[in-house]
Amino acid sequence: MSKLKIDPAMVRTELNLEILKNFQFQHPITLKYQALGGPGGWLGPNTTPINTCPDGVGSYQHYANGSIYYHPSTGAHEVHGLIRARWQSFGWERSFLGYPLTDESACPDGIGRYNHFQGGSIYWSPSSGAWEVHGAIRSKYSSLGWERSFLRYPLTNENTTPDGIGRYNHFQGGSIYWTPSTGAHEVHGLIRQHWASLGWEKSVLGYPTSDELVVFGGDGRISHFQKGSIYWSPTAGVRVLRERVRVHVKILENPTSFTLNQQFAAMQEVWAVSGIRVDWVTTENLNLPTLTDVDVGGCFMGQTTAEQNSLFGNRNFMAGNDLVVYYVRSTVPGYNGCAAHPPGRPGCVVVRSASRWTLGHEFGHVLGLNHVNNNDRLMTGNGTFNITNPPPDLTSAESTTMRNSNLSTPL
Ligand SMILES: [Zn+2]
Repeated sequence: MSKLKIDPAMVRTELNLEILKNFQFQHPITLKYQALGGPGGWLGPNTTPINTCPDGVGSYQHYANGSIYYHPSTGAHEVHGLIRARWQSFGWERSFLGYPLTDESACPDGIGRYNHFQGGSIYWSPSSGAWEVHGAIRSKYSSLGWERSFLRYPLTNENTTPDGIGRYNHFQGGSIYWTPSTGAHEVHGLIRQHWASLGWEKSVLGYPTSDELVVFGGDGRISHFQKGSIYWSPTAGVRVLRERVRVHVKILENPTSFTLNQQFAAMQEVWAVSGIRVDWVTTENLNLPTLTDVDVGGCFMGQTTAEQNSLFGNRNFMAGNDLVVYYVRSTVPGYNGCAAHPPGRPGCVVVRSASRWTLGHEFGHVLGLNHVNNNDRLMTGNGTFNITNPPPDLTSAESTTMRNSNLSTPL
């Protein structure tokens, strides 16, 4: 039997390793607690030991003023106050929210606070309280810029809609609605107010299928729904659109007085009064030098020249009741535009120097309207450059005629 030799230096080394081992294997909750000031910090003294969570993996410790939760895949994070109370109300980490991914953090706007969790977030502000957002609604909220967006802070948890199909959160500045078939979309402002007055998703419009959009780069705003749209502009106010026309643009000569966007924005603003949405579907440049000064004869509805027949033969991308506008250098004789078209090929010609209102005026003819001797109205026969009260009027009788046209189709 050999003699056992003990090296004192080795003993010291093993003691050092033992000290190091104790340090490294301090529980992550204890390390987090110490980092936050321990018993003298704002969490205060512990009220429980470190316990294992019901899932057998995570652990937690409660303190006088909050809790720290740890899971190997999330790390250790503190929750406290009203955010903790909201999380508790769902069932802590066993809820859809799961474990915290962050400590309670200050929002970038400097007003509110939040915790992110594995399955969502809880946002709190002094004026709104603490509410959860998750899933596709949270993704939409995030994409808009969280609390710094016009939505600001949530005012509800995610709720099921009264029809049992969709989900929503209300926020200080609007709502986000979601269904499996429509996805998540925000609705806000006067458009939301009007949708609410109609009965929200139980109204004829159903659920939103878009966020609020800028209409042709102008002042108008629109939200699309399953069965229509709600339009708003400063001059038209809020209008429910239940019909639409599909418009294709074919350019022989680019507009010079007003951009296409300005002309479409103006048309939609006036046509919104009739409840008709204007969809600009395609744009195509046509190289037709012999038709850039197009002979329109007397421009009588139902009568077309050979040049008009040739021009209106250009129907790429068009289907069904689609409408078309051909932008030309001029008509012969000279008009702002002409709505006469061959049978079954509804559309009009507009000259490049036309007024802001010409497009809506000519398509008014296409949908069955006649001239009036009144420069307050879209259908003035004295030239749309002479309109005296922009935006010009459409009467209810004219609106009815347009809606009844088979060229406007229900949404
Ligand atoms: Zn006219």
